[in-house]
Amino acid sequence: MKAIYLLIITLFISVNMNAQDSTKYNKLTPAEERVIVYKGTEAPFSGEYYLLDKEGVYRCKRCNAPLYKSSDKFDAHCGWPSFDDAIKGAVLRKPDADGHRTEIVCAKCGAHLGHVFEGEHFTKKNTRHCVNSVSLIFEPVKLPTDTTGK
Ligand SMILES: [Zn+2]
Repeated sequence: MKAIYLLIITLFISVNMNAQDSTKYNKLTPAEERVIVYKGTEAPFSGEYYLLDKEGVYRCKRCNAPLYKSSDKFDAHCGWPSFDDAIKGAVLRKPDADGHRTEIVCAKCGAHLGHVFEGEHFTKKNTRHCVNSVSLIFEPVKLPTDTTGK
């Protein structure tokens, strides 16, 4: 009997914690929700960050986790912000529901970001994270010089 009580209490606590977590997320507009929650795609060449060429970090629109650095951004002429790398551990890859592409999501909150493509030879890393601007918030910050090995 004691074990059952314990189980109920544990379940109650974990449900409660999940509820609290979701209230920590930023409020999204319907257009942002369409992409971030329902895995939509913004129109090409329409996003505010497509041609942005400033130094800084791109964060998740929903949970603020840092996802991409401006030093990994490049212009793939595809109409969406493109990065050839993500901040380590920040982005997860999943098979897309369409059966052939690879979806990318925020590792922290699961927000839909876009798709990742390999083997296109745009950059040395041969990888293109094709990300919806609407999934991102740009934060202008000075990046440490270094590191990317480009
Ligand atoms: Zn997130």
